Amino acid sequence: MANSDNSNARLKYIGPKDLGNLILPTFCPRCFWYERHYGPFPARFPGIFTVLDGVSKKSVYRSFQTRKKLPDWLNLPSVKRRVLLDEIGAVQNFQNRKYLIALHKRSGWYLRGAPDSVFELENGTLHIVDFKTARFTSKQDELYPLYEVQLNGYLLLSSKYPVSKLSLVYCEPKQELKDDIKFNLEFEAKIVDVDLKPNIIPELLMKAREIVDLEKPPEAIPNCHGTCYYIDKIIDNEVKKKES
Ligand code: SF4
Repeated sequence: MANSDNSNARLKYIGPKDLGNLILPTFCPRCFWYERHYGPFPARFPGIFTVLDGVSKKSVYRSFQTRKKLPDWLNLPSVKRRVLLDEIGAVQNFQNRKYLIALHKRSGWYLRGAPDSVFELENGTLHIVDFKTARFTSKQDELYPLYEVQLNGYLLLSSKYPVSKLSLVYCEPKQELKDDIKFNLEFEAKIVDVDLKPNIIPELLMKAREIVDLEKPPEAIPNCHGTCYYIDKIIDNEVKKKES
């Protein structure tokens, strides 16, 4: 299997959120193998959610710069200050952004990720927060195991400080526009605490390594009618045409 520089990087570095996919019941090892060897499939979600998550992050940043405290919309208890990534773990600059990074020797993966916000609490421990622009519905509940892995990955990467709290902050759009003159959509924050379970990370890193080390992509999920199902059908038809 020929590997480009990009695929070499994809076989070396993994983000806590990508790792979280492995725990979902819908996880497909074949997809994962293809993505790691050849690059990600086109995004299924429009980039607007990433933009809105960035708005929440910037609001927290500005509030600490100007008022030395959380913005009023984010009601987290006992927060003393906002903490920079350099203070809490080993940091790598990648594509103009800072990431926490650590090598898991057994699997050979570098776990690399950047939490949205990290706060030091009054008792000297850390509270790690990730923003999600979504309403907290049963669908979000289904994704909870993925987010649990994501936040616990950040916990492991924060090696210089004890972490006592992990939270998802759902920024939910309110139902109605405030007025009909300007398009001012309001959001409210719903905070969901996440269990501290750092022990789930090493076994998922080992599982990810086992899959990508396979010589060939694993079998398709039975009854999956996604991309590879149609590619296989096209190949079958071409073979039949040539044989007839
Ligand atoms: S189309 Fe289905 S079986 Fe094929 S790689 Fe994607 S999820 Fe897996």
